[in-house]
Amino acid sequence: KTVCVTGASGYIASWLVKFLLQRGYTVKASVRDLNDPKKVGHLLALDGARERLHLFKANLLEDGSFDTAIDGCDGVFHTASPFYTAVTDPQAELIDPALKGTLNVLGACAKSSSVKRIILTSSVAAVAHNGKPRTPDVVIDETWWSLPDLCKEMKLWYVLSKTLAEDAAWKFVTEKGIDMVAINPAMVIGPLLQPTLNSSAALILNLINGAETFPNATFGWVDVKDVANAHILAFENPLASGRYCLVEKVAHFSEIVKILHKLYPSMKLPEKCADDKPFVPEYQVSKEKAKTLGLEFTPIEQSIKETVESLKEKNFVGSSAAL
Ligand code: NDP
Repeated sequence: KTVCVTGASGYIASWLVKFLLQRGYTVKASVRDLNDPKKVGHLLALDGARERLHLFKANLLEDGSFDTAIDGCDGVFHTASPFYTAVTDPQAELIDPALKGTLNVLGACAKSSSVKRIILTSSVAAVAHNGKPRTPDVVIDETWWSLPDLCKEMKLWYVLSKTLAEDAAWKFVTEKGIDMVAINPAMVIGPLLQPTLNSSAALILNLINGAETFPNATFGWVDVKDVANAHILAFENPLASGRYCLVEKVAHFSEIVKILHKLYPSMKLPEKCADDKPFVPEYQVSKEKAKTLGLEFTPIEQSIKETVESLKEKNFVGSSAAL
């Protein structure tokens, strides 16, 4: 079978491409710059790449740039979307590529008669920000939707970009009668295949790279290999439908620091919180639906260890790399 992966150089997509090649798929993979070794070198080095990986150049903001590559594919994994928080123009840098880009990719799918299912990489960001209180007894699940107005009010531009993109995607596929499944991971950690630093792995790097304080924030965390696998399980299982939240554990940064300390007792780690407010409370995210895919979650301790080892191996630790 032939599938398309958009944004293939990215952190999650690189693992997805690796696993798809391992499973025998032919993969058409979009990148923005075919000549940048940092974006394509690690993909071309994957097992099976020489025989079954076909890179093509496409940009989310260029109408029609995915059409030719998507035509002929059985499935499309749409992962490409900018993920940074330090933006100066949220509309141009985040919202347009997320929203218009998603409709551009889905438009290509609609034009082709070969595409049987689309897997959309959404996020818990599109799920959890609805203003309801989040406390340890609250269980977030796939029925929750983030509220665009609230995102705007709180200037959560990345969250807004993912919410608008997923919402528009469901409206589009419903109207066109296209089969789509959304994957909604929380903060993704675990080893990096790509040589560049991505935003979620950077959160761990910041903790081990000499920071004095840890952020007063609580996130759900999930392993990158589990996220990539969930995409494939959702594509291959005819019964998969709707959205799938992926969270191994919800933890405040103070908990992440504790785990790091247990794993690396002599490592210099931040000892105090960045502010003196009460810690942002933890909450729960339901694993029930994700489990129906047959997914087993890697324990957070292992994901953190593999993240650190990977960041060390790629020489990020001790460098001034920060996002
Ligand atoms: P990366 O930053 O590693 O990957 C993002 C990818 O999107 C890159 O390949 C990037 O291309 C591509 N991209 C960005 N803008 C454009 C554009 N205008 N045209 C074409 N491609 C573009 O991030 P992740 O792997 O973490 O994210 C992948 C997906 O997963 C995103 O949809 C993100 O929202 C989602 N996600 C990520 C989570 C996380 O914690 N990491 C959590 C939940 C969801 P290039 O390499 O050229 O920059």
